[in-house]
Amino acid sequence: MRGVIAGGTVVTCDDRDQIFAGGVVVWQNDRIVYVGPRAGYSPAEHDEVWDARDRYVLPGLVNLHTHTPMTALRGLADDLPAEAWLPHAVGIESRLSSDDRYWSSLAGACGLLRRGVTFIADCGSGMLKSSQALWERGIRAVVAQTLTDEGAESSWNESEEVLARWGASPEKRIFAGLGPHATDTCGDRLLIKVRDRMEELGALAFMHVAQSRGELEAARRRGDKGCVHLLRRLGLLRPELVAAHCIYLEPKEMDLLAATATRVAHCPVSNAKVEGTVARAWALWQAGVGLGLGTDCAACNNAMDLWFDLKFAALFHKTAAADPTALPARVALSWVTRAAAACVSMGDQIGSLRPGTRADIITLRGDVPNAVPAPDPHSHLVYSVSGGDVETVVVDGRVLVRRGEFVNLDADRIRHELRRIRAKLVA
Ligand SMILES: [Zn+2]
Repeated sequence: MRGVIAGGTVVTCDDRDQIFAGGVVVWQNDRIVYVGPRAGYSPAEHDEVWDARDRYVLPGLVNLHTHTPMTALRGLADDLPAEAWLPHAVGIESRLSSDDRYWSSLAGACGLLRRGVTFIADCGSGMLKSSQALWERGIRAVVAQTLTDEGAESSWNESEEVLARWGASPEKRIFAGLGPHATDTCGDRLLIKVRDRMEELGALAFMHVAQSRGELEAARRRGDKGCVHLLRRLGLLRPELVAAHCIYLEPKEMDLLAATATRVAHCPVSNAKVEGTVARAWALWQAGVGLGLGTDCAACNNAMDLWFDLKFAALFHKTAAADPTALPARVALSWVTRAAAACVSMGDQIGSLRPGTRADIITLRGDVPNAVPAPDPHSHLVYSVSGGDVETVVVDGRVLVRRGEFVNLDADRIRHELRRIRAKLVA
């Protein structure tokens, strides 16, 4: 089957940042086969053509760090002291059954898709069942079961089940990685086991790194100068590791991340809300570190609207640098598209619209008050858009959201389940 979106402003997010006004995107089955001006499009007999006049057409967004099983915790961990946040959230989370996590993940995937996110790096406990929810909902994801010293054997076993279920290759819409929780919740033995398993499987790993002052102090108590130094000692720094947060970095740790091509998931809204400070991601980027944006979970982001994180990042890094030219819109947009895709070694598959990439496509309304006039599409998409402007969402060539509504969704059932879980959590 071929789908055609024609007449919109096509913002390719490719490495030349090409834009085609009145352009055309064509996909066949799960792959894009044409992106460009209308003149280059050859219609085929059964093409289903969608009129995208007054619409922006983009690759689906990439969310590099989230925890969909925690969606039911939205609003349950607000305005807490930094050192109290994690124990509080973990305490509530531990009351979720695997069934609760399934519904939480389903609701989380719906919320993200509806706002244009088509790929997530999703970590959590109970990932075997939660990943099933992601599969059923149609989002693309890499999933990782959270591993800690405390949960040692059971979490490792579930991680192995998740890896066996989905495999570690991004060829499938859902695939699995490893999820060591953080440097202060995983001892040397567990981290070495993770490193060896990554190498055996060729798998990615997702880990919180330098996310709190307490984590930095714990690394120092182990004789390391900082959390990144600790990971270097254990041989974990590498392009397959996505380190979330990286707030409390020691001198030279930015260079260590750059030199080893270790990736960073920057979560500015979560950082600000949980820690009251934001990682120096613009400095990391300028030092040559590959990174992308993540929402983190609903307990520390609430809205889970990646467009909001994007604008917040762009403004925060200008403020931090006291320089309004810092983090320009084009670069910022790459942090939720091309650059973020490269962090999970999928730059040739997602994060840009090019022939041969996966048919993960979104459209946004360009005829709404916040979009008129909008002379520069990159600037518009970073400073003016919200997730509510997203109108169409296609993943793997399959239309999931059309005219702002899910094609197939029992929203009442999901709301009912979330209310049930919420009542249990606050009881
Ligand atoms: Zn996180």
